[in-house]
Amino acid sequence: MIDDQKIAYLDNAATMPMPDEVLEVIDMYYHAHKVNVHRGMYRLAHQVTEQYEAVRQATADFINAQDSSEIIFTSGTTDALNLVAFGYAEKQLQPDDEIIISVLEHHSNFIPWQRVAHKTGAKLKIVGLDDQQNLDMQQFSELLTEKTKLVAITLVSNVLGSIVDAKQIIEQTHHMGGVVVLDAAQAVGHLPLDVQKLDADFLAFSGHKMYGPTGVGVLYGKRNLLEQVAPLRFGGEMADEVDAQTATFQPLPLRLEAGTPNIAGVLGLGAAIQYLQKIGFTTIHQHEQQLLNQLYQGLRQIPAIKVYGPRSAAERQGVLSFNYGTIHAHDVATIIDTENVAVRAGHMCAEPLMQALGVSSVVRASVSYMNTTRDVEQLLAAMNQVGQILL
Ligand code: PMP
Repeated sequence: MIDDQKIAYLDNAATMPMPDEVLEVIDMYYHAHKVNVHRGMYRLAHQVTEQYEAVRQATADFINAQDSSEIIFTSGTTDALNLVAFGYAEKQLQPDDEIIISVLEHHSNFIPWQRVAHKTGAKLKIVGLDDQQNLDMQQFSELLTEKTKLVAITLVSNVLGSIVDAKQIIEQTHHMGGVVVLDAAQAVGHLPLDVQKLDADFLAFSGHKMYGPTGVGVLYGKRNLLEQVAPLRFGGEMADEVDAQTATFQPLPLRLEAGTPNIAGVLGLGAAIQYLQKIGFTTIHQHEQQLLNQLYQGLRQIPAIKVYGPRSAAERQGVLSFNYGTIHAHDVATIIDTENVAVRAGHMCAEPLMQALGVSSVVRASVSYMNTTRDVEQLLAAMNQVGQILL
């Protein structure tokens, strides 16, 4: 809502709205149950700790992890990726090693690897796009060598919506002895994730991109790899025994969760998982594909509009980016905002991808299960206004 008017919210890739069942769980915690976890001896503290740990188990089940200790609660995808980069990769990599990322990556899965490469002397290699604007798998195979110790790749592009063949990348990387980190930020609210089927080594996502609250996220890691992740933060709850000069640490997962966690966030994440499971990814997928298709067909009616990424709705998840002739993306977004349509415009925290596409910015519409065909109609009608005003 803005100024009491309902907006067509099509910026779900930035953050998704929260359904009532998620809001109620958070509200209940703050209203009636606000105690700390893993500390108190009283019944309410035990009860909330049990609820908190039940979400860890639910998260493990949600992505089919083998064990709940493979789930580390973080503040989001960025935090999770930084934990792998500086708690694991920085300690493991040597000057002659190589890291592969792709031009599709969000800055959160780009800058940490630049830093790790800089600090360790490892080489950073970047996979580009093929002529269909998909990840160039041929180039990936060529870049991958026995020196590749780590591949960090997104599952779904936050700009193009294209789905990356993670299974293939993981198989090939494992064959060379490397480890794969998956950025699942744009996949988690749209696609079922199965870390065992993928054989993913690490996987990161955020609660707020799956109908949950901000400030909570997850790092999944295979148990043997998480054991090698050094804590980046030290303090309460992660310590076991502390004397004047030394400290020992808790086993996983608490070893990597120093300090009071985002309890309401984790409980909200649990409710968001239940929400996604209640609706089911098949229903979500069908609904979103219908909206994306409607959007794509509508935009195609306007000849000056150029859509980026896959042509068919089936090949993209949740996101559709475009430009309107030579009109700056910011101008498009500002004008359609006056028609109560919210989209994102800019470089989408993916400047290397913008360079690969040969643009400085795009307009991005992104859908969730909560959108309706009316939202898309509102966007399409507003786009016609843009043409009338600026062309
Ligand atoms: N990776 C991708 C692909 C994203 O779209 C985002 C969020 N836009 C992130 C990482 C970072 O997520 P967060 O800001 O929740 O840490």
